[in-house]
Amino acid sequence: MKSKNTRKIEKIKKQHGLLAIIAFIFTCFVATMMLSYFVYSLVYYLLQEKLSSEYESIAYMARIYEQSFAEDYEGDVLAVLNEDGREYIIRDASGSLLTGDEKNTCSEKGEEVVLTGIHEKVEVFTDKTYPFVTVDGNGDVTVLILNLLNYIEGHKNDPELFLLIDDSEIHGNASNVLFFDSDSFLRLPVWMGVPVGETSETFIGKGFIYIRMSDVSIILITTLILGILFFIIFMLFLVNMIGNIKNQKRSMKLFFMDLATGGHNRMWYFYKGEALLKKKSSASFQYAVVSLQSVKYNTFCMCHSVSEGEEIIRKVSSCIEKHITRREVFAHESPECFMILIKVKDQDELMGRLNALVADLEHIDLNHTFTYHVGVSVLLPPRDANGRILRRRFIDLEQDYNNAVTARNTLNDKEDSGIAFFDLKLVEERKWRDQVEEHCREALEKQEFVVYYQPKYDPKSKYMKGTEALIRWQSPALGFVSPGKFIPIFEHNGFITEIDHYMLEHVAMDQKKWLEQGIECVPISVNISRAHFIESDLAEQIRDTVDRIGTPRNLIEIELTESAFFDDKNALIKTISKLKEYGFAVSMDDFGSGYSSLNSLKDMPLDILKLDAEFFRGDGQGERGKIVVSETIKLAQSLKMRTVAEGVEIKEQVEFLEEQGCDMIQGYYYSEPLPADKYVDKLIAKKSDK
Ligand code: C2E
Ligand code: MG
Ligand code: MG
Repeated sequence: MKSKNTRKIEKIKKQHGLLAIIAFIFTCFVATMMLSYFVYSLVYYLLQEKLSSEYESIAYMARIYEQSFAEDYEGDVLAVLNEDGREYIIRDASGSLLTGDEKNTCSEKGEEVVLTGIHEKVEVFTDKTYPFVTVDGNGDVTVLILNLLNYIEGHKNDPELFLLIDDSEIHGNASNVLFFDSDSFLRLPVWMGVPVGETSETFIGKGFIYIRMSDVSIILITTLILGILFFIIFMLFLVNMIGNIKNQKRSMKLFFMDLATGGHNRMWYFYKGEALLKKKSSASFQYAVVSLQSVKYNTFCMCHSVSEGEEIIRKVSSCIEKHITRREVFAHESPECFMILIKVKDQDELMGRLNALVADLEHIDLNHTFTYHVGVSVLLPPRDANGRILRRRFIDLEQDYNNAVTARNTLNDKEDSGIAFFDLKLVEERKWRDQVEEHCREALEKQEFVVYYQPKYDPKSKYMKGTEALIRWQSPALGFVSPGKFIPIFEHNGFITEIDHYMLEHVAMDQKKWLEQGIECVPISVNISRAHFIESDLAEQIRDTVDRIGTPRNLIEIELTESAFFDDKNALIKTISKLKEYGFAVSMDDFGSGYSSLNSLKDMPLDILKLDAEFFRGDGQGERGKIVVSETIKLAQSLKMRTVAEGVEIKEQVEFLEEQGCDMIQGYYYSEPLPADKYVDKLIAKKSDK
């Protein structure tokens, strides 16, 4: 099945190419028909005129003959008739000869013809010696031109056919007479019958159709002039049609051209790619639909100029061209993106080729290193139920390319070059993201987000020393959703800032409520996402919210995820300093996960270091892991920071952390995150029973 775009392009091609040819052929056909009809009418008219005048002479003789039947007629009618010099015969009703030469050349049977000049039915008989004037199936008198010409070829001096104008002498060479001497005649015999009065006899006289050379000339010249006229029109039409087809080719070229690289554009990729995939010879190969993006292109254009950027893009284009074969396709999609269709035998070959391409592209310019994100959607050979390879029929290259882009987009957060493959999991992820984004605003309004509290205990005294507020989403549409499934989406689309404010407000309100109920509260830490730190007045916003609700500032702690430390460092230090100044404790979350920055500890005036749960899982439990944990705790202590160990699940870990002087432990060992009412029970109990 062809895609919508391919169908559109083919329609445009048909409109300009095929339709023009059809119109041309049709016009040629109509013009030829018109010309033939005109010539036919002219010849017909001349023939009718000539026959009519001959008929009148024969009818006159018939009338003379008829008069001989009158009782008072005394003359010799045959002598009178013979005076005329015209050959004639008289037949009775049965066709038997009554008068005339037995050797006459009149055919036995005549055909009725209506002569337009005299509007009468006339019986016409073909001459047996010169059977060139006959009656066709429609009752029209016709001259059998081809037979006549053939005959003339062999009888150029036949005096019966060729006469001089004075009707007396045969002029020299008959062919010359016919074609060059306008004073000569060509005479074609034809017999015409006239019924004789009340009798059943028929008077049949021999007439001639005299064709003067000037008649032929008139027909030929008129035909020639008309023919030339039609030819000129044909030629104009033809030139116009060729021009149209050329223009169409040119506009198709423009339609498929990419102005930046001079190569091809997106439309061409889909059009050519689909045609390539559809070929029988393509069926047994794997094809990789590739979307390649130059990651730093925009930054490069910003720091240099767009024209320098375009120069790079042209280099990228010619580099890709060198890497692909004749049976593959590539096009420039958008300023920083290229689309490629690669034919490979297997995955290894594909990876080899893509890696080689990216390696070459990275060094496309001597002064800069560029990085590339490559998304790939692999099209395997289609097979039937028995595993036999089938020809590709249902191709949707646009969808496949979109899949490659989806795969490429998973690399968005990376700065380095990378290759990502599309699989259906990505579609599921995308669907989930759309659902979450669709429902999140309504969920916030309807307070579907719920705060859970996970206590932090001092491993020595077993007293609760703090708590972390963790979000849960109880969605009627999506069910119970844990933060790992929606927080990254909100961080991506910016909705996280609203979530963070929502959580802060709810935690502050809960703390206030519990204080008013006379419960002794511990500081609760609220997670603030890195995306939030672009707001320069974040510290003020937090202060104002907490103050408005009326919660003591020392009961709210702010947790910054470690990734936040990669952003604008100075702005971050400023916000942390302000938060501390306003009386909020600030902790670094997930320390040790991902790309830890020890450097950030040097510059950030933090109060608490939260050791990531990863320390207490898998390899982290070994001797080396213990050394890292114990040294990190020592480092934090030296920097006057308290430590919290996250994700602690077993007793041995608690004992080890207690030994190392870890201030608080947050983990399933003591308590999982709890809904508010259950948390309050633990808060009132103060001490863990573990
Ligand atoms: P986090 O801030 O590091 O929170 C700790 C996560 O560890 C929580 O996962 C908690 O339930 C889990 N956890 C605690 N103890 C244990 C344990 O012993 N074993 C295991 N396996 N897990 C434990 P949770 O609640 O799913 O939250 C995941 C992440 O989502 C959080 O990591 C945080 O980065 C983010 N998050 C949660 N709530 C919020 C919020 O209100 N705002 C923002 N910006 N992020 C939030
Ligand atoms: Mg946290
Ligand atoms: Mg954490």
